[in-house]
Amino acid sequence: MAASKTLPLFDVQTIRAQFPALAQRVHGKPLVYLDNAATTQKPQSVIDAVRRYYEHDNANIHRGVHTLSERATAMYERAREDVRVFVNARSTSEIIFTRNATESINLVARAWGDANVHAGDEILITAMEHHSNIVPWQQLCGRTGAVLKVAPIDDRGALMIDAFERLLGPKTKMVAITAMSNALGTVVPVAELTAKAHAAGAMVLIDGSQSAYHVATDVQAIGCEFFVFSGHKVYGPTGIGVLYGREAVLDAMPPFLGGGDMISSVTFEKTTWNALPYKFEAGTPHIAGPIGVAAAIAFIRGIGFDAIHAHESALLDYGTAALVAVPGLKLVGTAPQKASVLSFVMDGIHPHDIGTIVDREGVAIRTGHHCAQPVMDRFGIPATARASLAMYNTQDDIDALVRALARVQEVMG
Ligand SMILES: *Cc1c(COP(=O)(O)O)cnc(C)c1O
Repeated sequence: MAASKTLPLFDVQTIRAQFPALAQRVHGKPLVYLDNAATTQKPQSVIDAVRRYYEHDNANIHRGVHTLSERATAMYERAREDVRVFVNARSTSEIIFTRNATESINLVARAWGDANVHAGDEILITAMEHHSNIVPWQQLCGRTGAVLKVAPIDDRGALMIDAFERLLGPKTKMVAITAMSNALGTVVPVAELTAKAHAAGAMVLIDGSQSAYHVATDVQAIGCEFFVFSGHKVYGPTGIGVLYGREAVLDAMPPFLGGGDMISSVTFEKTTWNALPYKFEAGTPHIAGPIGVAAAIAFIRGIGFDAIHAHESALLDYGTAALVAVPGLKLVGTAPQKASVLSFVMDGIHPHDIGTIVDREGVAIRTGHHCAQPVMDRFGIPATARASLAMYNTQDDIDALVRALARVQEVMG
């Protein structure tokens, strides 16, 4: 018989059963967790991996010759290899562990930016960036006299590519763009934009915080110099982030933080830096963090992004149809290419009231500016309510949200 590649069956109930936090009641109602763009729940295998590390293998890494230290070091470095495969980097020298995506961006803005950006240079971002991909660049501009340029988005929340291209020029030193908007769900063609940025001579940083748990990441296919994401959004622990950086670029950068582990030798006269990636990992790292992220990556790999994406796309279509049928509800963010985020406003009802009332029904959504105040300004609103999807969400979750929104209208109407 010819070998046939069978797609693993995507059984959402089997998947849900592996996330202990989902099996609880909130205000007496079954929890409906739709705040995944803020953070995802953790599968049992991630919780177990972190716990097992602390129960059996806890030791400081890299300097110890005793068994536990060797074990902890091996686990930490194997996690780096798992992350390398996850983003398809060429080498583990290109994978740096940070606290979160925010710190990864700050590392680049500080270490690369301070050495390479000068007065009159330009940094290009988009109007849909998270504050984490705005503020570090603004601060860099403040330190250096560089200028922050912002590519606009249209009324549906899609990037205006022509305007983006017009803003690129010989002064553009860095293009920092999200792969997917957390406030609108817009999916950005990052490989195409990276090619345009490179043609103008600029470096590229991709904020993959939202894309990394919905679609496969391939930093070589994108071609970017830097790619960042947070462990806690890819079903891993909080407090651990990743910076991918192209080796030659990282090599040429000065360190970000100074201290132990990032040095090769220290005297009071002169200190020399450790090799990559350790040059950028000062001090004792969050050892359990990468171990948890590696377990999360293994969990995702066991299901596959094709299956995850198919499930989440079908659910987004279902949710979009269900929400637009709610009287007085308007979706914010309707770009043709979008994923997993349903941001909305309701006539005469403040988003904060929506969030509070649906919570009483057991439904967790986020309300506010979603760390993207410029996006709110663009649409002339102070805030939205946002339901955001992950692999374990179901049509029942959407139905529960719609019932809870009817309750909002009863209470507020
Ligand atoms: C969540 C998020 C961030 C910041 O992630 P942290 O884990 O808070 O550092 C940055 N960008 C986008 C698009 C996000 O969704």
